[in-house]
Amino acid sequence: RSALSFEGVTARYAPGSAPALSDVSLEIPRIGHTAIVGPSGAGKTTMFSLLLRFLNPDSGRLVLDGIPLDEWSLEDLRRRIVYVEQDTPLVPGTLRENLLYTHQDADEETLWEALRAVRLDERVRALPDGLDTSLSTAVISGGERQRIALSRALVSTPEILLLDEATAQLDGLTEAAVHEVIDRVAQTGAVLTIAHRLSTVIDADQIVVLESGTIRARGKHHELLATD
Ligand code: ADP
Ligand code: ADP
Repeated sequence: RSALSFEGVTARYAPGSAPALSDVSLEIPRIGHTAIVGPSGAGKTTMFSLLLRFLNPDSGRLVLDGIPLDEWSLEDLRRRIVYVEQDTPLVPGTLRENLLYTHQDADEETLWEALRAVRLDERVRALPDGLDTSLSTAVISGGERQRIALSRALVSTPEILLLDEATAQLDGLTEAAVHEVIDRVAQTGAVLTIAHRLSTVIDADQIVVLESGTIRARGKHHELLATD
């Protein structure tokens, strides 16, 4: 049974304008990794905006666990659907505060395990203040920031993780961290990626090909190769 579905969803950014998504129906299984691919302007980001309720459909509906998305409280929704964007802003404060941002009562072991998964544990252990290092004083690269944002998603173990893979070239460690997080979260929940990397698409349980706001094809990598 699917956790999340788009049911005939049409969405526009302005009344009377061309739809960014047209009559999209899609079931996203409770467990596993669904990768969305397609050219620029296809509607990939719009699907995320609808799931996060930054945008409402013109017609059709989204349903989470049998309940229309617009009937959920935003608080509950933000707990269940976690979004890691290309440049997720970190909050001013310490590393610990950032890791605990969506899940306040995670224990120490969970934090270190999350850091280990994105290969930041040794780096953080070497800092004089460890987890209590203030992010305003630490020298942190863009890749490390992204890995902190990814490890935060592991701390909160979301039921649904939305991940927009950066379009820019990722360094090797960050790319490995992206895959590690997808693999881990997809074992117990649903991961939905806007995929830019072939490796991500090949490994996905389901690939959705979007074009001009409609789903052109859907299936596993080898199935899509066979039909088109
Ligand atoms: P995404 O799949 O995350 O929406 P896109 O493939 O749409 O990313 O775009 C990748 C990057 O290239 C974005 O930063 C976008 O602004 C830029 N871009 C896309 N299309 C064009 C274009 N025709 N001209 C210039 N920049 C573009
Ligand atoms: P993708 O993420 O696949 O590149 P988007 O979902 O960003 O595609 O865009 C789908 C369509 O919606 C495109 O035609 C785009 O120009 C339009 N669009 C996206 N964001 C906005 C916006 N904020 N205002 C108006 N049109 C938008």
